[in-house]
Amino acid sequence: MIKCQVIMDAMEKIAPRILAEEWDNPGLLLGSPSQTINKIIICLDVNSQVVEKAITEKCDLIISHHPFIFHAIKKIRTDLPQGHLIQKLLQNNIAVFAAHTNLDSAHGGINDLLCELWNLHDVAPLDISFQEELVKLVVFVPEAHAEKVRLALGKAGAGFIGNYSHCSFVSEGIGHFLPLEGTHPFIGKIGKIAAVKEIKVETILPLKIKDRVIKAMLKAHPYEEPAYEIYPLKTNADITGLGRIGELPEETSFVDFAAAVKASLPANNVRIVKVNDKKIKKVALCSGAGAEFIDKAKMMGADVYITGDVKYHEAQRAQDLGINLIDGGHFGTEYPIVRALSAELQTLAQENDWQIKIIYDQNARDPFETLQ
Ligand SMILES: [Zn+2]
Repeated sequence: MIKCQVIMDAMEKIAPRILAEEWDNPGLLLGSPSQTINKIIICLDVNSQVVEKAITEKCDLIISHHPFIFHAIKKIRTDLPQGHLIQKLLQNNIAVFAAHTNLDSAHGGINDLLCELWNLHDVAPLDISFQEELVKLVVFVPEAHAEKVRLALGKAGAGFIGNYSHCSFVSEGIGHFLPLEGTHPFIGKIGKIAAVKEIKVETILPLKIKDRVIKAMLKAHPYEEPAYEIYPLKTNADITGLGRIGELPEETSFVDFAAAVKASLPANNVRIVKVNDKKIKKVALCSGAGAEFIDKAKMMGADVYITGDVKYHEAQRAQDLGINLIDGGHFGTEYPIVRALSAELQTLAQENDWQIKIIYDQNARDPFETLQ
């Protein structure tokens, strides 16, 4: 068993909250970070079937994609669906956590999963909503403590460049200082100028973890008043956002590609808007309801745009713009993440020796059916 906070921290790494759209409501929606977790169920939606399953399976935490509580609640009526579920969840001490648009945008999230399904390469975000700000940290350390400080910086998350961690540059020099009355210098004597061989350690870090990194650096540093500097950087940092655009390994006909999309998704049917006979190479996509990006997909040069929940006039818009469209359904384009997220958490549980069980909602079905 582990605390709910441990899972919340793991989810923060998988789908950082900072990636969520402004209007969204991800995070822990019911329960407490300090409650004990033995078993988790992952799902797309928190509905009565999922809550019943969580109760019978003795789960303490539900992780869903769609936030169970989205709009502000002014009353909890237990005779109505949402209030009834809240009552059941509280009675059974089941916490609820959501990762929504942050999981859409995250690296390895829903949209990247769709790109994998369709073998896209040279993938980029369709609509950039997040660009990480980087800063440079320079700190001066006496030689004997340089390694300790460098390791502390790396452990706190500084020095990540691509798939390399603990990156830093060091150079040697002489530091000078005069300890004044009332100080407790680690090196040197009060009232006497000291000249000490020091190491200058330079590293980079995302602005958002600055406080954590500084705290770790100060803890590892032997000086009473360590000298350090922080600079803003213009280096290209991590970029992500909603949707993706990438290329197929080979050109294909629109109808063949649409058939492949249908076969890869948990969808009874896909609806298509075929506007031309051009071969498909460049593919844009957005999981869930992404019709708002039809224009963007066209502007970015996509031959086809795949999303869900497309309305009549939006389909006409695709015709007017001259871009082929595939509506794979809201459920169809999002449900694949449920199993993938379950597998990812399972791996983390094994790596960290968390004594928990993880299951996922295997019985979820698209509410829409098709009459043939
Ligand atoms: Zn959705």
